Amino acid sequence: MNLKDYIKNVPNFPEQGIQFKDITPLIGDGKAFQYATKLFCDYAKEVKADVIVGPDARGFIFGTPVATQLGLGFVPVRKPGKLPRETITESYSLEYGKNALSLHKGDILPKQKVLIVDDLLATGGTIAATIKLIEKSGAEVVGIAFLIELEALHGREKFKDYPIYSLLTY
Ligand code: AMP
Repeated sequence: MNLKDYIKNVPNFPEQGIQFKDITPLIGDGKAFQYATKLFCDYAKEVKADVIVGPDARGFIFGTPVATQLGLGFVPVRKPGKLPRETITESYSLEYGKNALSLHKGDILPKQKVLIVDDLLATGGTIAATIKLIEKSGAEVVGIAFLIELEALHGREKFKDYPIYSLLTY
């Protein structure tokens, strides 16, 4: 199965010059979504992850099926103002715009082995902030898995010390 057949490129969304990779055809197809999930699960086993972290919001879509398949916990990293208990927060830049991400204190335990799962690696700002939140919690990032990596943006160079796995590259 070629997962690229299920990704639609949308030029100039949400801003002029951005080639937006629309993942909704992939998650809308049961077999394609199942296949992508299986590849992520194989990787999670390989790196011996014991918890899955997904950044708001598309990281939830790809991270939660991996967690349930493997019987692991899922921890959301969310946009500020969404988590009700005490949080830690990190700011970051997007390919378009700026944002911040928060994590509940105590949702990730010291020494846990974390696999981060997200839809797409662009500049890497989102993942850099996510890594900081995880490491401030005392846990270890054992891998970072993406459905899509936009190689031209060189996001990977920010994460030389971490194993990165991308199902599709553009
Ligand atoms: P970044 O922090 O720059 O790596 O951007 C990460 C997030 O922004 C991804 O997880 C996507 O959800 C979204 N994103 C950035 N660029 C694109 C793009 N070209 N197509 C679709 N989503 C994008």
